Amino acid sequence: MAWVLRGLRDGVVTSRYPRRPDGYGDGYRAALSVVEGADAAAVDGHLGEKAALASLCPTGAIEVGGRLSVDRGRCILCGRCVEARPDLFAFDPAPEVATLTRRALLVPREHDDALELVRSELAQRVRVLRRSIHIRHVDAGSDGSEEWEVAALTNPVYDVQRLGIFFTASPRHADVLLVTGVGTAGMAEPLRRTFEAMPEPKVVLAAGTDATSGGLVYPTYASGAGIGSIVPVDVWVPGSPPSPFSLLHGILVGLGLLSEAGSET
Ligand code: SF4
Repeated sequence: MAWVLRGLRDGVVTSRYPRRPDGYGDGYRAALSVVEGADAAAVDGHLGEKAALASLCPTGAIEVGGRLSVDRGRCILCGRCVEARPDLFAFDPAPEVATLTRRALLVPREHDDALELVRSELAQRVRVLRRSIHIRHVDAGSDGSEEWEVAALTNPVYDVQRLGIFFTASPRHADVLLVTGVGTAGMAEPLRRTFEAMPEPKVVLAAGTDATSGGLVYPTYASGAGIGSIVPVDVWVPGSPPSPFSLLHGILVGLGLLSEAGSET
């Protein structure tokens, strides 16, 4: 009886994303951005100040060269830079952070001539993936945080089955390979074999900062700079961990159903 009353009280909790924006994730640290206009102020500083700025970041995500930039693919969203320099850095709660190239994770974004080609090649490749989609998830040395977010995709709030997206245990049935973790040496071969066992066409997602760049622990004797050197990545989803909405955005970008972060189309 209590469950019936609760159901009546809460109504439908399932998100309508991406058909409608969803405020559920507002306030989540989806990605880090450089505050608009902060660029010149930081670069004007003398060398010591620039070095201090870069040293704020435990993963080397802040670059202070000719301009101030942040590599979202290396950012673990720890917040140190935002706390120390809120005039320069801020969190961006918008979950649409997935990109089609590793380079596009560098913000502020620079124009990339190759992007249009990458986009059209992927669209051409996945054009037959228009019905139900099956995802094979591989943990290639994760700390477990991404797995919580991946698992949440099937709960009543995110409910990816409503979009015809399902998880499968078999790579033979999978269209999308969703990889979490830093890509440990021990997982390199199983990951490669999973990729090879999947039928064409297939899409590979690097889910999270660890899979993208090796994260906080890079480099170690047992892991490299993410999974990009093991399997060819189509979509990069930064975040540590990325929220279920960010993962969903990445999946839909990979299927050519949504535009990538920073895209004007
Ligand atoms: S939030 Fe943390 S990891 Fe990300 S750029 Fe700032 S200091 Fe580096």
